[in-house]
Amino acid sequence: MAEKGRVCVTGAGGYVASWLVKLLPSRGYRVHGTVREPGDVKNAHLKKLDNALENLQLFKADLLDYSSIHTAIVGCDGVFHAASPVPSGTVLNPEVELIEPAVTGTLNVLKACSEAKVKRVVIVSSIVAVRMNPNWPKNQLLDETCWSDKEYCRETKNYYCLSKTIAESEAWEYAKRSGLDVVTICPTLVIGPMLQSTVNTSSQFILRLLKGGSESVENKVLNIVDVRDVAEALLLVYEKLEAEGRYICTAHKIKTKDLVDKLRSLYPNYNCPKNFTEVDEGAKLSSEKLQRLGLKFRPLEETLVDSVKSYQESGLLD
Ligand code: NAP
Repeated sequence: MAEKGRVCVTGAGGYVASWLVKLLPSRGYRVHGTVREPGDVKNAHLKKLDNALENLQLFKADLLDYSSIHTAIVGCDGVFHAASPVPSGTVLNPEVELIEPAVTGTLNVLKACSEAKVKRVVIVSSIVAVRMNPNWPKNQLLDETCWSDKEYCRETKNYYCLSKTIAESEAWEYAKRSGLDVVTICPTLVIGPMLQSTVNTSSQFILRLLKGGSESVENKVLNIVDVRDVAEALLLVYEKLEAEGRYICTAHKIKTKDLVDKLRSLYPNYNCPKNFTEVDEGAKLSSEKLQRLGLKFRPLEETLVDSVKSYQESGLLD
C-alpha cells in the first residue's frame, strides 16, 4: 500500500478515536496518538490493534499542556482532533471540567498545527453545536449553517453542549484568522462496537436500553450513526481536497421506543425498558453534504448486532 504520511489523533484511546486509529494504518497512514496516561489499562487496546507496533506511536499529552500537544503534532501532515471531555453525569465545575479542556484544548491543538505547518485539521465537533437553539422553527430541516445558541445552552445548564459549541466556533474564528485548513464533523449519537475496555457515555445509553427494564425512558427521536462510519467520515473529509466547512454526520432517525422494540425482537432475553414517557419531536437533520462527498452509512441492524456482540464479549450484559 502507498505510504500516505503521518497524522496525529488526539485522545487516541477514546471510543471514536480508537476506530480511527484502527482505520488509518489500513489506509497507509502512520499515526501519532495522544493519550493522557499511556500505561493506563483504558489505553491497553491500542497496542493490540493490527499493525500498531509498526504504525502507531503513542504520546503522553494533555490538551491543556501546550508543549505536550505540540510534541505529538510535529512531523504530521494532518491532525484529527477528537479529544474532548464527554461527561456521563452531572458535572460539578463545568468551566474547569468541560469548557476549558474543550475550548483551550482545541485552540492549543490548532496553534500547534499552525506551528508544525499541518496541511489539514479535522475536528470532531458534535450535533450539539448545531441543534441547541430554541429559535429554530420546529419543522425546519437543520443543516450545517445552523448553530446552537450559547446563552440557551448556559441557561439550560447544557454545559457539554456549551463546551462543544464554543470549541467549534472558536476553531472557525482561529481558522479565519490564521488561514489554517480546518474541517469539522458534527456526529449525532454514536453507537457501535467498542474497541476500548471502559464504557464511554454514548455506549452507556444503548446498554441502558438493553438492561434498564424497570426504568421509564423518554420516547425521544434519536439520530444515530455507527462509530465505524464516523471514522470513515473523518478520513473522507481529510482526504477529499474539496471538503470544506462543517459536516453533519447522521445515518438513522428512530424513536427510542421503536429502537427498543428492535432490540427486544433481536434479543428477547434482555431486560429492555417497557415504560416510556412522551416528549416533543426532535430536530430534523440532514447528512446530505457528507453523503454528496461519498460517505455511505451501514444499516442500523448491523450497528445494533455488532454493538451487542461487543458488549457480550466485554461481559457487560452478564
Ligand atoms: P470518549 O471515549 O470519552 O473520548 C474522549 C477522549 O477525550 C478520551 O480519550 C479522553 O481521554 C480525551 N480527553 C478528555 N479530556 C482531555 C484532556 N484534558 N486532555 C487530553 N485528552 C482528553 O468519548 P467519544 O465518544 O469517543 O468522544 C470523542 C469525540 O467525539 C469528542 O470530541 C466528543 O465530543 C465527540 N462526539 C461524540 C459523540 C458520541 O455520541 N460518542 C457524538 C458527537 C460527538 P481520557 O481517556 O484520558 O479521559
